[in-house]
Amino acid sequence: MNKGDSELITLSMIENGFTQTANEETADICIFNTCSVREHAEKRALAKISIARSRKPAKQRLVVVAGCMAQRIGEELVLKGKADLAAGPYQSPELGTIIRTHIDKHRCKLFLSQEGADFSERINFDLVKNKDIYPWHKWVTITHGCENFCAYCIVPYVRGKLISFPSEKILNYIRELAAEGIIEITLLGQNVNQYGQDCGEIPFYQLLEKTAAIEGLKKINFLTSHPMDFNSVIADVIKDNSNISRSIHLPLQSGSDPVLKAMNRKYTLSDYHRIIDTLKNRLDDFSISTDLIVGFPGETDADFRNTLKAVTDIRYDEAFMYAYSPREGTPAFTLKEELTRAEKIERLNELIALQRKISLEKRESRINRIELVIAEKSSRRSTLEVSGKTFLNHTVVFNGSSADIGKETRVEIIEVNGSTLVGKKLP
Ligand code: SF4
Repeated sequence: MNKGDSELITLSMIENGFTQTANEETADICIFNTCSVREHAEKRALAKISIARSRKPAKQRLVVVAGCMAQRIGEELVLKGKADLAAGPYQSPELGTIIRTHIDKHRCKLFLSQEGADFSERINFDLVKNKDIYPWHKWVTITHGCENFCAYCIVPYVRGKLISFPSEKILNYIRELAAEGIIEITLLGQNVNQYGQDCGEIPFYQLLEKTAAIEGLKKINFLTSHPMDFNSVIADVIKDNSNISRSIHLPLQSGSDPVLKAMNRKYTLSDYHRIIDTLKNRLDDFSISTDLIVGFPGETDADFRNTLKAVTDIRYDEAFMYAYSPREGTPAFTLKEELTRAEKIERLNELIALQRKISLEKRESRINRIELVIAEKSSRRSTLEVSGKTFLNHTVVFNGSSADIGKETRVEIIEVNGSTLVGKKLP
C-alpha cells in the first residue's frame, strides 16, 4: 500500500515543480512515507527522521512525515520540532500541493483529516507512464482503509474506513497500463476481498474477472485476502483465468479458535480449512502463504500447539511469522500479557523451524516441473543468470540475460538452493 501511495506522492511532487534527487543527504525536502503496523517499523522511521533533521539546519530543510505513523503521532512530531509537516495516508495524492502551499504561504503543518470530503483522487491516469520498481509491473490500489478492527491492528485507526474506488476507473486504468506494455499487476487493498462492500460497487470476484479479461496481462496478483471474505466464487474465477497468479496469501494469524476470537478475526480454523479444501478442489497447482502471530495475550501452550498443528496440516509455502508486540491505540493493548518476551521468542523460533522445513519440502517438490517465470533482474551471483518469480511466487534463478527481464519464460526446475529454485531456460 505504501509503495502505491509513494508513487502518488512522487507524482504530486513532480506536478508541483519539485525534482527528485538521488542523494538524500543534500535534499531540501525529505519525505518519509511511514508504516505503523509494527513498533519496530516506527522506531526505524523515527531514527531516520531524526538523522534527516540533524543533517542541515532546520531552516534549510523541510522534513515531512507522511503515511500511517504521521496519522498516529504526526501532531506530536510537529509540536516537538521533529518534523515540519505531517500528512496522513488520505493526503498522499495531494502532498505536492500541500508542501508547495506550505512553502509559499507558510500554511498549516498538519493534514490528518480522514473526512470523506477530503479524500482525493487515487486513480491517477498520469501514473500510467510513471514506471515503478519494474517497468512491466504496476501496483493498482483498489481500496483504501479497513473496518475489520482485528484486535492487534492499528490500520483501521490510521487508514480509516473502507473506501472502494470506482471499478470502471480501475479497469480503464489497467487497460491503459496494458496498452503501455505492462504485463503484470498487483491489485492492492488491506482486504481486497471486501472490494465493493462499502458502496454497492461490483464485488471483488467480478473486478478480478474483468481484470483478467484485459488483453496483454500475463500475471495478476492480489493482496491481501481475508479468510472471512475469501469464498468459492473467487476460487472459481482464479480457476477459469490462467493469467491470475496461483499464489494465494491468506493470513491465518493463529491455529486456535479462542485466540482467533480474541483477535476478532471472525473465522474459525474449520472455516479456514474449508477455504483450503475449496482451493484444492478447484486448482491443480497453487501455493499458499500466510501471516502468523505467536504469543497473543491469553495464548496458552495448547493454543500454540494448535497453531503448529495447523501449519503442519496446511503446509504453507511461505509464512511471515511474528512474536506479538502490543500496539498502543489497539484494543489488544489493554489485554494482560502472561508471556515474557523470551517465552514468545521461544515459541516463534519453534514455529519458524517447522515452517522452514515445510518450505524446503514444498520447494523440492517443484524439481522437474516446468514453470512460467517473469525474470526481474540479473542474478547477484552471475551476469549469465537472472532471477524472477514463478506463477506460485517462488523465487527462481535460471540461465538468461538482461533480454529476458520483464518477459515470461518457460523454465525447468532442476534443484533447490536454500530458499531459491534453480532452473534451466527452455526454448
Ligand atoms: S483485516 Fe485486520 S489485520 Fe488486516 S488491516 Fe484490517 S484490521 Fe488490520
